[in-house]
Amino acid sequence: MSLHTAQHWVFDMDGTLTLAVHDFEAIKRELDIPLEQDILHHLAALPIAEAKAKHAWLLEHERELALNARPAPGAVELLRELSERGYQLGILTRNAHELALLTLQAIGVGDYFAAPDVIGRGEALPKPDPDGLLRLAQRWKVASTQLVMVGDYRFDLQCARAAGAYSVLVNLPSNPWPELVDHFAVDCNALLKQLTGQA
Ligand SMILES: [Mg+2]
Repeated sequence: MSLHTAQHWVFDMDGTLTLAVHDFEAIKRELDIPLEQDILHHLAALPIAEAKAKHAWLLEHERELALNARPAPGAVELLRELSERGYQLGILTRNAHELALLTLQAIGVGDYFAAPDVIGRGEALPKPDPDGLLRLAQRWKVASTQLVMVGDYRFDLQCARAAGAYSVLVNLPSNPWPELVDHFAVDCNALLKQLTGQA
């Protein structure tokens, strides 16, 4: 499969379709999480009451971010093109499902995604685990090798690799993970141009 034959596209949301606004260091400071630790993994290992309280804080903080989300360059145009081609579109995010829906609405692309195709941290094991991609492949009745996974972070690419999907990196000035990336574009604008042959 290649970029030009792919008809099943999965996107990371934060920092891929939206401008990056998550200040993960500030979140970790607020929740007493060591900087080198993964937020979701850390919370999962806490006593239930503490984990619950911190998850609640995180959800509230992220709701605020969702309402104020801005689209990344070219994200809306790329999704419109893929949607007009009749391709299948999904989201795989470590954000919560309801906040993902809120965010997608806020940036004007909510109509391009069926709600069950938006997989958040409650619907699958978090990336880099391939669970979410495997679930989407199953929903769409295709092999996971038919999927494209577009993201802005190592976890997105590792997740794609683990599922045998085609990995696309966007929104970085250059590609720091060549061994994990099948295709690199500086942003969704560039990716759209490469897809439509205008690059
Ligand atoms: Mg991201």
